[in-house]
Amino acid sequence: MATTERYYTSSSLPPPSPPNHYDHLLSSLNHILTTYPPVHFTHRTFSGLYSGPTSISYLILRLSQLHPTLALRGKSCREWSAEYLSPQPLPARGAAGRISAGNCGVASELLVKPVVEACLAADETLAGQVCELEVLINAKSDEAGGGGGSNEWLYGRSGYLYLLRMLRHFFSGPNVRQMVDLAINNTVARIMDDWRAHPDGEGWMWHGKKYLGAAHGVAGIVAQVVMSCRVTGTPIPEELEGIVSGLLDQQLDTGNWPPSKNSSRDDLVQFCHGAPGMLISLIPIKDSFPALRRRIDSACTRGRQVVEQRGLLTKTPSLCHGITGNALAFEDEETLGRFMGYTTREYLERNVGVFRGLGEKELVDEEFGLFTGEGGRAWGFFVGYLVGQGGGDLWGRVVGFNDL
Ligand SMILES: [Zn+2]
Repeated sequence: MATTERYYTSSSLPPPSPPNHYDHLLSSLNHILTTYPPVHFTHRTFSGLYSGPTSISYLILRLSQLHPTLALRGKSCREWSAEYLSPQPLPARGAAGRISAGNCGVASELLVKPVVEACLAADETLAGQVCELEVLINAKSDEAGGGGGSNEWLYGRSGYLYLLRMLRHFFSGPNVRQMVDLAINNTVARIMDDWRAHPDGEGWMWHGKKYLGAAHGVAGIVAQVVMSCRVTGTPIPEELEGIVSGLLDQQLDTGNWPPSKNSSRDDLVQFCHGAPGMLISLIPIKDSFPALRRRIDSACTRGRQVVEQRGLLTKTPSLCHGITGNALAFEDEETLGRFMGYTTREYLERNVGVFRGLGEKELVDEEFGLFTGEGGRAWGFFVGYLVGQGGGDLWGRVVGFNDL
């Protein structure tokens, strides 16, 4: 079954049984608690919401909000969530060792941990400190420690927007709300200033490339800006309609999107690059662009065709670049369930060797991380369960990206 291809056809894989999403959610969470317990933090690699223990802490916290009666092994979800936050100071390595305009996204452990901690403990002081970092993150001069930085979601300002929305979601009091809204508005303004300075897309480049997708590119930035303006009630910047139209223009004849602008590369069909992330970015914001609504709907239909054809990826199933994220690009129970069926504990254990990277010992944080492994698979089953119960507002929702 080993393959060097990027994807399987459904006929080349052993068929999965239809998943009972709730049972698989529990089995997935129990696997995390047993095999990746909240101990031995000194051996872990921390990458904020992306992977590592803090990503599991946040997953469990969000599950407890959306499903308050969920308890695991006699403990409340909030207790588990607190246990997955490292009590030790984190190892500082290179650029990841300090918060900056280029290290302020959802993978920034130094920023994510205090946000999750503040939400869990209802700590207004800590929440305020995170909001004050806006000055550093949005600074325009290098002297202030800001400089260009990044605007994408994983390491940049639009990821900071998600973290600010998280604070807004957990704190309903006027003190924190006021600080958060100011930080959101200033961050949106800073992101848009970079676009206006280089409307050809150079202002939103990451590592020298004009990425288009959810993790590093235009779609992810637009989605974060729109969702953030909506929660604060600020008008959506008028340039965004043209930017979304430009994204639709980049769709390839196959229905996929290339990773970067004007590229013809068509091999990546995953959340971080390609059609799945594009759909997951467009689904929650399409109502904000009524003039583009028909084009967006037709682009999504064509995009789903390519995910259907090439979405059963050979990499370990994950939210970022695997079957789990691809499953969430669909808005029908049958296809979501069919894709998730390839990612159950039973299926993975029965078909060891089918997925590249699965179970490799040196990749333990990736194996369990929210965007890289089991944590994301648990989220996928949770979405499958809730939409089956009529939770229609969870279609296309990826925790840490567009669930708030
Ligand atoms: Zn990825």
